[in-house]
Amino acid sequence: MAIWEGYSHSGTTTGDHEKSVLGIPFTWGTEGIVTVKETIEFRIPIENARKHLPAGLGVDLGGVLRVTLASEDPLIARIKSLEHHYHAKGKTFVHGWMIRRRYSRDELDQAKLLHVWPQKSFEPAGEECGTAYDESEACDYVISRIPEWEISGYRIPESIDFCGVGAVQVTSLYLDGRRIPRNVDFTRTIAGEIVVSSRVVQVFQELGLTGAEFDPVRLVDRNHEPSQDHYQLNVVGTPVELDSVTRAGSHPFDEDAYGRCPRSHLVGLNLLSEVTVKAAKIPKNDILITRQMVGVRRGLLRPRPLLLFSPCGWRAVKKAKLKGLTVEVAHLS
Ligand SMILES: [Zn+2]
Repeated sequence: MAIWEGYSHSGTTTGDHEKSVLGIPFTWGTEGIVTVKETIEFRIPIENARKHLPAGLGVDLGGVLRVTLASEDPLIARIKSLEHHYHAKGKTFVHGWMIRRRYSRDELDQAKLLHVWPQKSFEPAGEECGTAYDESEACDYVISRIPEWEISGYRIPESIDFCGVGAVQVTSLYLDGRRIPRNVDFTRTIAGEIVVSSRVVQVFQELGLTGAEFDPVRLVDRNHEPSQDHYQLNVVGTPVELDSVTRAGSHPFDEDAYGRCPRSHLVGLNLLSEVTVKAAKIPKNDILITRQMVGVRRGLLRPRPLLLFSPCGWRAVKKAKLKGLTVEVAHLS
């Protein structure tokens, strides 16, 4: 996840003027342009860290250590081997992780394509508010199944992760308007339904940006009236093909791409690398989605395509100061 200047994590900005992030120096490119800096933040229980990692590392958050490392740091290989070792014993060494990428202003300005995603998510999801989906064409490939079990007399129902790609939203998006985050222009439900402000619609219309349709969000807290402030973003046009160099899986060390669907719908549970798409046949739209998705169908959760902006679309978003997106450079192969 990249931090887009001024739009998230207040107090941290990225740009040509900033020489370090989290105390780690940027790498300077041959032409003096700051190049992408990738860090992985781990959450590691203190007792695990004390046993196996150098003293003084990270920040104690109260029983859990926050350790932020540049992705080329040799300590990552050590953490990976510890995780495998713990995993073999049915335990986990790392309890959480987050990959962050930071780019210079030039890198973002010169990118041929940008990968974006609304940072904030909210509940209840559309389905909980009456939005209907047709599941008849949804892929039924089962990724994992945890059978029903019992704990202290309580029955825990069976849990199934499956692909689910191909479900079609067949009604307007129904939401509780009181729960849509304010002060951002792009947001999403936990099910990946993208909601934008009326300002986004206005900017797209004024500049003639292509590839998006905006459908009314109907408010369950207001008698199902269409919202004047929020719309659902639907990306239309031919999806682009994700290149297989794009990594996805359950965690940074996952080499088996957990969550991949063999019918090539899903590439994995979480996106782990920058996005690379195949350059051939990219439609000339300002907003695009990939054909292959990430995520899983589990309860309310649904898989989602990756969202991309053309340079022109990105410039428009930036100029209008539309808030709420994280952004990364996407690559063409
Ligand atoms: Zn599938």
